Amino acid sequence: MESYNSFRVARQQIQEAAKILNLDEATIELLIHPQREYNFTMHVRMDDGKVKIFQGYRIQYNYARGPAKGGIRFHKDETVDTIRALACWMTWKTAVLDLPLGGGKGGVCFDPKRMSEHELERISRAYIRAIAPLIGADQDVPAPDVYTNPQTMAWMMDEYETIINRHQPGVLTDKPTQIGGTEGRRDATARGGVITVREACKQLNIDPTGKFAIQGFGNAGQRAALLHEELLGGGKLIAVSDSRAAIYNAEGFDAKELVMHKLKTGSVKGFPGAKEIPHENLLELDVEVLYPAALENAISSSNADKIKAKILCELANGPTTPEADIILSKNGVHVIPDILASAGGVTVSYFEMVQDKYSFFWEEDVVHKTLDQKLTQAYKTVHEAQKEKNVHPRLAAMVVGVARVAEACKLRGWV
Ligand code: GLU
Repeated sequence: MESYNSFRVARQQIQEAAKILNLDEATIELLIHPQREYNFTMHVRMDDGKVKIFQGYRIQYNYARGPAKGGIRFHKDETVDTIRALACWMTWKTAVLDLPLGGGKGGVCFDPKRMSEHELERISRAYIRAIAPLIGADQDVPAPDVYTNPQTMAWMMDEYETIINRHQPGVLTDKPTQIGGTEGRRDATARGGVITVREACKQLNIDPTGKFAIQGFGNAGQRAALLHEELLGGGKLIAVSDSRAAIYNAEGFDAKELVMHKLKTGSVKGFPGAKEIPHENLLELDVEVLYPAALENAISSSNADKIKAKILCELANGPTTPEADIILSKNGVHVIPDILASAGGVTVSYFEMVQDKYSFFWEEDVVHKTLDQKLTQAYKTVHEAQKEKNVHPRLAAMVVGVARVAEACKLRGWV
């Protein structure tokens, strides 16, 4: 079994793009290093009265194009290198969408499933106290990621505003709409992904209402299941998985019922009419579209050859290793890379920042329409780069993102 270091993967991707762009040594050096890293411990009192120490990170990978932007994860397997990789990918993601933002990411290493609601609130507030001097609407703007959500953002924003003693809702995005959040943020990551699938189906002449499967049934996975009907006119969801089970039904699941079951029971396990299958089998199903929507490195050289999907739409960050990319490309699987496919979330986060700045809020259909325009344009730009440079889609997206960031660094006189 290979073992993957996501930051090594992320750096390798930069080197490949840099080669195509003929970047000079200094620019490459700059781009393969995070600009700022904060690494700290937090002390938080648990419900039993004892104090526990947590490891936290916030990394501002590159801010040449604007304030660092990216989520905060609560996950037990987080390391400084996973956060570096995720912050790095955010840099290219915001650039591919041509947003005036840089890239960042944060995390706390612990298992949120073992915490009470009150403990989660205290951890969230402690995290913001630690990074408060470093963030701000014009500096670094966090958002949710794995196991964090609008409630987490609400606690964090409240703590931040208490510290600075004034309102500043734009310090974080994906807040509840009642306190400065935008309409249309909750399903934005999935919506962006399904829009890219729509564009890919047009380009490749694939039936958008065909079979699809989703690995990972968190926010992005659930919303993608629901959005097929609205954006593609249908589709048969034949398999889904979460950390507890992978389930299959050749006739297709009712997406709404399945989401309700997940919300009620905490898992897709035990959904009526579903057959349980081994987790790895889900990735190998004969489907039009496969959505990896869980964690990094799910598709590696050990399973890439078995993937039969026509389109692989990466809603997760970094689900495919570079070795797997080569195999998928050889086998004709059309990969919509994470920095494009999962960019809907940060795009609507940017809309939220804009609305918070002028304190006037858009209707939901304006958010949807503007997101659609942005994603469709980005898909086209990446597709053109792919044809022009004759490379696979991930490398094409990297070339677009890296070129824009390198240009900004150069204009600023950093290199
Ligand atoms: N965590 C999301 C991502 O990985 C959203 C980040 C954001 O909105 O800043 O793209």
